[in-house]
Amino acid sequence: MSEFSGVTPGLVCSHHHLYSALARGMPAPAETPERFLQILERVWWRLDAALDLEMIEWSAKLGAVEALMSGCTAIIDHHESPNAIDGSLSVIADACSEVGVRVSCAYGVTDRHGPAGATAGLAENERFLRDGGRGMVGLHAAFTCSESTIEEAIGLAEDLEVGIHVHVAEGVVDSGAGAALARKAQSNWLLVHGVYLPDGIDLEGTLVHNPRSNMNNAVGYAEPTRFKIPVALGTDGIGADMLDEFRLAFVKLRELDVTAGPETPWKWLEAGWDLMPEARDDVVSWNYPTMEPWHLAYTTGVRAGDIVIDGEPVLRDGLPTRVDVDEVRAKALEQAKRLFAKLD
Ligand SMILES: [Zn+2]
Repeated sequence: MSEFSGVTPGLVCSHHHLYSALARGMPAPAETPERFLQILERVWWRLDAALDLEMIEWSAKLGAVEALMSGCTAIIDHHESPNAIDGSLSVIADACSEVGVRVSCAYGVTDRHGPAGATAGLAENERFLRDGGRGMVGLHAAFTCSESTIEEAIGLAEDLEVGIHVHVAEGVVDSGAGAALARKAQSNWLLVHGVYLPDGIDLEGTLVHNPRSNMNNAVGYAEPTRFKIPVALGTDGIGADMLDEFRLAFVKLRELDVTAGPETPWKWLEAGWDLMPEARDDVVSWNYPTMEPWHLAYTTGVRAGDIVIDGEPVLRDGLPTRVDVDEVRAKALEQAKRLFAKLD
């Protein structure tokens, strides 16, 4: 990072769900969820079951456009669409490529739709990665996967020499199974959340902290400083404004320890460059001259102006150059209406 200048490398969102860009304004569930598992069942698992490939395409484009406009040039995505699995990762990769954002894709394999669903999810990861797609093998979370599905996913990841991207101990419901899975992690795995991982657990890989999502779901605080492994920052699908996520990570840490400085959450933001190293070469010019942790921790409204990736301007004066942002928003809104109409 070129400190004390208004230029940085591209920021990295280390855990995203691009499909959730269409979720804003979705009809509320008939019964208000009161626990994390009910939020999954009544919001996210209703939504993902209704997704088709066209919805996924425009959701990903909107998410990619908004990432770019926030100075985020690389996204590590985790996808699920149980009724449109085959080809879904390519749709996301193509949408991001059209906008000019780097993406790493993974399909979140799960047994919540039976063994056939798990097999189809594994097959989509394999198809995409063997075709040369950039990504990881995805698992939803240990508590929704059978032991054999987990073992198959680990075998596939080893075979393809990529890591596993998985939610771990996000809520109490996954505390035991999530910790057991986390103990199997290798250095190229992404362990997402880890709120209920026990103190002192011996881990490999990178832990991805998503402070806004954890607060929004009231699952508790992960206390990322507990872990010896690297910590990175994600949004868990709520946009890709990584400076905003950094600010939240900072104040959440301060709530626990008022002596904490912003260098720690800044390090978490920087850890994204170890996961998506190409983003270091991207050049983001900001509307603020002093891009250093103590300034950014307390300065809101810092916006990306211009972004150059591989010599090509993909953002100019805050607007994407390859796609029309108004058209992307309009098309995404149309798809959101189709999606909401399909919800049970
Ligand atoms: Zn997630």
